[in-house]
Amino acid sequence: MSWVLQHADFFNNRSMEWNSTYMVWKKFFADEGFTETELESATVAVFRRSKVPVFGAEHLNALKEELREIRRKAREAALKELQRRPPCPVCSNGGTVRVPNRSLIDAAGNWDDAKSQSLDWAVCDRCDSAKILGCGGLSLTDYESRVPNWRSLLARQDEIDKKTDSMPSSQVEREYEAIKARLRSVFLELQNNQLNPS
Ligand SMILES: [Zn+2]
Repeated sequence: MSWVLQHADFFNNRSMEWNSTYMVWKKFFADEGFTETELESATVAVFRRSKVPVFGAEHLNALKEELREIRRKAREAALKELQRRPPCPVCSNGGTVRVPNRSLIDAAGNWDDAKSQSLDWAVCDRCDSAKILGCGGLSLTDYESRVPNWRSLLARQDEIDKKTDSMPSSQVEREYEAIKARLRSVFLELQNNQLNPS
């Protein structure tokens, strides 16, 4: 059963006019990226409300609220699942990987890491952490196709750091990854609160 018929049946609005209105709503929500399954769940949630909306505009607003809530719960569940799962060997579930800044690598493949901004991010595409956390940018696969020797460039720098008795950059990066993941969670929480002011 399509969502249009389901919503009409739930709220006893089976006229042709309502049918056309629901078709428009469905298209609007589809354009916003909502799936038919999400719409069906939203209708059930609206139906379960203690105060069921009466007018069309109230129905539309109620659906929008329930869809936001469905997305918020799905994101929360995905973040929890991300924290529970074993760390990705590439990004430690942080979604991104620290890599040498491409613009500082010369034609011979040498990396000038003494400059500021010598490191950059690549998005891990070996797991779905980046998708869950909403990281965007150049994928690690694309980066690697352009800088195949990036790991050895970083390892060489680690060796130099060790000799100069400073904290290895890989350790700094791991700590930075953990901080970054925490900041992202906080940011997502803030974003959720803005979308769903209580
Ligand atoms: Zn990963």
